[in-house]
This record gives sequence, C-alpha cells and structure tokens, in this order.
Amino acid sequence: MHGAVFYNKEKSDFLSSAAKVREDNQEEWGNMEKVIVIDFGGQYNQLVARRVRECNVYCEIYSYRTDLAQIKEMNPKGIILTGGPNSCYEADSPAYARELFELGIPVLGLCYGAQLMMHILGGKVEKAPVREYGKIEVFVDGTSPLFAEVGTKTDKAAGAIWDDHKTDDHATICWMSHNDYISKPAPAFAVAAHTADCPVAAAECREKNLYAIQFHPEVLHTQEGTKMLYNFVRGVCGCAGTWRMDSFVENTVKEIREKVGDGKVLLALSGGVDSSVAAGLLSRAIGKQLTCVFVDHGLLRKDEGDEVEAVFGEGGQFDLNFIRVNAQERYYGKLAGVTEPEQKRKIIGEEFIRVFEEEAKKIGAVDFLAQGTIYPDVVESGLGGESAVIKSHHNVGGLPEYVDFKEIVEPLRDLFKDEVRKAGLALGIPEKLVFRQPFPGPGLGIRIIGEVTADKVRIVQDADAIYREEVDKAAASYAKEHGVPAPWKPDQYFAALTNMRSVGVMGDERTYDYAVALRAVKTVDFMTAESAEIPFEILQKVMSRVINEVRGVNRVFYDLTSKPPGTIEFE
Ligand code: GLN
Repeated sequence: MHGAVFYNKEKSDFLSSAAKVREDNQEEWGNMEKVIVIDFGGQYNQLVARRVRECNVYCEIYSYRTDLAQIKEMNPKGIILTGGPNSCYEADSPAYARELFELGIPVLGLCYGAQLMMHILGGKVEKAPVREYGKIEVFVDGTSPLFAEVGTKTDKAAGAIWDDHKTDDHATICWMSHNDYISKPAPAFAVAAHTADCPVAAAECREKNLYAIQFHPEVLHTQEGTKMLYNFVRGVCGCAGTWRMDSFVENTVKEIREKVGDGKVLLALSGGVDSSVAAGLLSRAIGKQLTCVFVDHGLLRKDEGDEVEAVFGEGGQFDLNFIRVNAQERYYGKLAGVTEPEQKRKIIGEEFIRVFEEEAKKIGAVDFLAQGTIYPDVVESGLGGESAVIKSHHNVGGLPEYVDFKEIVEPLRDLFKDEVRKAGLALGIPEKLVFRQPFPGPGLGIRIIGEVTADKVRIVQDADAIYREEVDKAAASYAKEHGVPAPWKPDQYFAALTNMRSVGVMGDERTYDYAVALRAVKTVDFMTAESAEIPFEILQKVMSRVINEVRGVNRVFYDLTSKPPGTIEFE
C-alpha cells in the first residue's frame, strides 16, 4: 500500500487556525496579559502555572537560567518564584539577579523562592531548628493583600480538607515542606504570617509589591491557597483575567467557518482525544455539515463504543451527523486464526479503510476531509519503527486516495497534547474522554497475544476495566489525602492477555485458564519508560478481583519490563 499521507500540501492551503492564533498572539505578545513562573526545581511548578491559569491569566514557566533581559521583554504583569530542593545560602545554589526585584513588577516567592528573595535582599535564611512538613496551621498577621479574606471562620474554602478543624479568625491550614527558614526578613519587609515554629511564614514589602511565602499555596492542602494566588495575580498584579482556552476555541471556530463555508466535512472519529476534540470544534463551527464516521472494530476498551456514542451520537451534546459502524463481527472474522502481530495490525488497518470507504461512498463527495492530527504526530510521522506503523493507521493515513474530497482540515495541527485537552474541556467534552490514556489504533488486537477471538476480547476488556478502576481509585484517594498526585501514578496502564494457560485450583476444582498481564509505566515522552511502582496491596486487590470476576482467568502477572528493551504495548 502507499505511504501515509498526513497532509497534502498541494491539495490544501489550509492554514490551521491554531497557527494563526499564535501568529496574532506573537504580534500582541508584548501586550498580552501574562504571569511568568521562574522555576527553581520545585516539585509543584506545573501546579503553580495551572493555578494561575485557573485565575484566567496566561502563564508560562521559565528556568531560573533565563536572562533578565528576556524576562523584561516578555513584559509580565507578575513573576512567581517556585520552590526548590537547595539551600539558597549555599554557593552553587540556583539564584537570580537582584535586579529582578527592581523592575517594578510584583514578585511572589514560594518556599525556596521566598527564601531566595529574602537572602538576596538582605534578610537571613538558615537551617530551621524545627523542620515543618505537611499541614500546618498558619497565623495571618496584619492585613496583607495576599491574605485578603483568608482565615475567616465564615468563609469555607472550596474543597476544604479539614472541615471540622477549629481555626480562629486569622488562622488557615497550609502545606509546608521545608528544612530552612527565614530567621530574619529583609529590610523594609514586614512579617505577614507565622506558625508555631516558623516566625516568618510570610513577609511583604507592600510599596514594592514583593511577597514571600514559606508554604505552598499551589498545593490543594493549603486550604485557601487558590485564593492567595488569586489575590496575588488578580489583586496585587492587577490582571484583568481575560485569558481562556475558550478564546482559542472561539477563534478556531471562526476560522473553520470562514474556510469551510457551506462545504461538507467528513471525519473518521476514533473516540480518542484528538479526533474527539477535532469533532467537537468542527461541530461547533459547522454543525450538520460535519459527518463523523465511528468504526467500532470490537477492539475498544470496555463500554468505549457506547461512551463515544453517548457524547457524539444522537441525543448527545453536539450537533453533527454521527454514523456508528458496528464492524465487530467483520473484524473477528478477518482475524480468526491470525497470530502474527504485524499481520494482525495490517488486517485491522486495511479493514478500517475498507469500512470507512464504504461509508464514504454512501455519503458521496465531500469538500473536506478532517483529521485530528496534532503537532507531535507531525513530528513523529517522520520516524520509523512501531510508532510509524501505529500512526499510519491511527491517523487514517492513505484515506485521501479512497475518499472523494478537495482539501484536508486539521484544526489541531499546531497544538500539543495538553493544549488539545484544554480545548476539549473548553468545548465541554467529558473529562473521562478528554483525559483518556493513549490507545493504539489496532486497539486490543495488539494487547491479546496470538489469535484474537470475541471471548479473549471480553476477558481483556473486563480485566482492564477492573485494573483501571482500582488504580484510578487508589490514585484519587492518595491525592485527596496528600494534596499531591501519587508518586507511583502511572502515565499509561492497561491489562493484556497473554496467550498462556496454566493449571490452577478454584473451589477445589482444577482450572486450566489464561494469565492476564498488568502493565503500568512511568514516562514523560513515551519514548522511554519504566514500570510504575504501584503499591503491592493495590496490585493484589486487582489480582483477586480479576480472578474472581473475570471468567477464564486464573493467574495475574505484573510486567516489570522497561522500554527499551520492551515496548509499552505487548505486540
Ligand atoms: N530547600 C528549601 C528548604 O528545605 C526549600 C524547600 C522548598 O522549596 N520546598 O527549606
């Protein structure tokens, strides 16, 4: 078959709306309201940026190595210095030029950032006689704008963790994690809060808009942390708070409307994040001019087909033509007796094109073919190996030759995954779908070793659903209890069916059943990965539930293999 066609430049001059929006932003970059986070190696830096964005203020993170000139050029309305593992008084610890505090731009230092601010400006930081870790009661002194409406009995912060905790009027529960402390604030700074063991839990120099806090407002355990960050960003910095992912969505919708006019658009909807967000955007823009074909090949995760239909089908929230093709039997028929992984992939990919082609014929000529291609796909499509094979199917490579259309529309072509997710949330696509794990085009077909049968699909679907449910539940309760994500929370996790059967005993009877393998990896880029250290009791719970609830399984393995030498998927 011909090679993958991701984007036919000759056929299309479609300038993706995202690029356009960025270009516009480039021109207005200097005026765009933003807050900069300077990263000193703290654990929760992404959280800081996220909380700022939750205040509807655009926010980016930069290393502490970024030049002052560059920071100035960005013209931020405020600067936040993060926490970090070092001690600021040691010679080779990350630091910053003193001029940062003389720009006239409000600066908020958090933990290490607070200590560094005091250290640079002439205060004293040293090893604390008592380290503080965890939830600590902080007493607000005075009337800092940072703590406006913080620590009052009547105002219960949303998501308060210690609802029954008795606080007096000026106390609030904050999350601490420090060995050093500010023993003396810098000249011109006043103490704005303290704890039982920490005389300077916060300090401020109001004339210069400089604020230092020892605790972590970005962590949810700091009950009123979001309010404090809001006070800084919207109050002290005076940000208007006009930024929203909605603005991106609005602009893109406008662009699509202009480009498509009254043309017809066809999209192959896989139910994955990218094609779903593309469908949502297109539907917002052109409604029923969009037709989505969703092929259920019977190799989806449990209940996934119905979930996709509930969102995009009739009665769902989007206005579009939704066609679900239930091709399960057709696929199982084609796959019967096939055990070789590459052949399985090829069959699944080709069958997809055939089904899609049949549907396209029924629809007739369309003006545009839409694809949910995102920026990493564009980059990765040049790579060989496993990824190219998956992508060529996943992004319906090759379809252009079979379907009668004039141009390709790829509204997400310049977005990164997290931006695509944000756009999805802004469009009102359910979180469950927006935060879906990566899932290969050939689906469970390559998570079942050897021959694929309807019964094996049932086994792996049920085991996988149990596994994900237990991991999600445990991770959520860890996050609730500790205020931070579980360190073991995998980036990708699923069950696979080994082709191995072995002898077991259940209810005093001999069994001869399949072994399920559990896979869970920690990875940043999915190019390399390590197996995640899921606590043993969670794995044990999964094991016993899978064996008890899924007929045909009598053994459960945990896969410890890293990538390389293994792959994340099984075949
Ligand atoms: N390393 C510093 C301390 O121990 C700062 C810690 C932090 O930023 N969380 O006090």
